[in-house]
Amino acid sequence: MRHLRYCTRCVMPETKPDLFIDGDGICSACRNYEHRQTVDWERRGHELRTILERYRSANGGNYDCLVPVSGGKDSHFQTLRLLELGMNPLCVTATTDHLSALGRRNIENLKAQGVDYVEVTTNPVVRHKINRLALTQVGDISWPEHVTIFTIPVRVAVRFEIPLIVWGENPQNEYGGPAGAADDNVLTRRWLEEFGGLLGLRVSDLVGRDGIERQHLIQYTYPDDEELRRVGVTGLFLGYYVPWDGYSNALYAQAHGFETYQRSVEGSLVNYENLDNAQTGIHDYFKFLKYGFGRTTDLACMHVRRGRLPRADAVRLVRMHDGKFPWTYLGTQLEEIIEAIDMTLDEFIRICDRFTNKKLFECDARGNLLKDPNGNLTKINYDNP
Ligand SMILES: [Zn+2]
Repeated sequence: MRHLRYCTRCVMPETKPDLFIDGDGICSACRNYEHRQTVDWERRGHELRTILERYRSANGGNYDCLVPVSGGKDSHFQTLRLLELGMNPLCVTATTDHLSALGRRNIENLKAQGVDYVEVTTNPVVRHKINRLALTQVGDISWPEHVTIFTIPVRVAVRFEIPLIVWGENPQNEYGGPAGAADDNVLTRRWLEEFGGLLGLRVSDLVGRDGIERQHLIQYTYPDDEELRRVGVTGLFLGYYVPWDGYSNALYAQAHGFETYQRSVEGSLVNYENLDNAQTGIHDYFKFLKYGFGRTTDLACMHVRRGRLPRADAVRLVRMHDGKFPWTYLGTQLEEIIEAIDMTLDEFIRICDRFTNKKLFECDARGNLLKDPNGNLTKINYDNP
């Protein structure tokens, strides 16, 4: 019987894409975090101020930088920190797929910190078709969001002639990934293509499907190299220059009026993140089906690394909460969420089964997935033997 191998320091399984578990049984994300302890944050903070100074608008005639924001805890932190550093940012939101009322209130709270703000919403009729296509074809309902959170801020930067984009954390640093990318603090077109999470589905592949035409996909496309060069668009990850911790960002945001959910978010461990999109529960569930870990694992790992949660408790919490069938998310019923993309429950379950990696879950003698009465799967193992 094959076993799923886990990092011996956190609780991440080896199936996470781009994660590497070394000879000591420690994963690359834990090694990255270890490396962060040796970072001279004072020096990085100085580097940051030098860069910001270089991009500050000379006469106040334009914005100093552009900040992509969702309205979440991290975007509150980014915006507040830049204001504290005396910057005049333009905050830009690429509207999420199925915006929650809580997400909308947090966007309004972010504006109220005292910033100019632009929200770009893609055609929702087409968006729902893309959600459906992406879920059916690559098992990722959030694919259009993964694309537009990168393309839209860059398009707006070109349009408003703002060269500097201040992103939040570098996912390759916090979450592991190719070692070479961990030190990369400048966003390039190549970065988008490599790490943008497009799962092999290209924007151009959508043309001609379900009546989608090229004209519907303007906001899904990156500006061309010539436009980027003309404005000199570049970017930095704030998480490279200041110690980054989702939990302390949440505390800081809450102190500035950011609202959390009334209890832990379904499938998660905490109440302070992923509060703006009702489809996120489906996104996280598919990650569980494909790779055997969900949002609870991600959060447990972050807290374990920071010494806030003993590993044994993390294993217990993952077993309790991770990868539960997403009957509701942020209190919205699954049926309502999938009806919006023209999908029935039966159809949804069939797609789930199609994307499930059966090697990771208990099956009966005939090889069919074992499910409890609520449709939940059981992993073959939750810790190293
Ligand atoms: Zn680890």
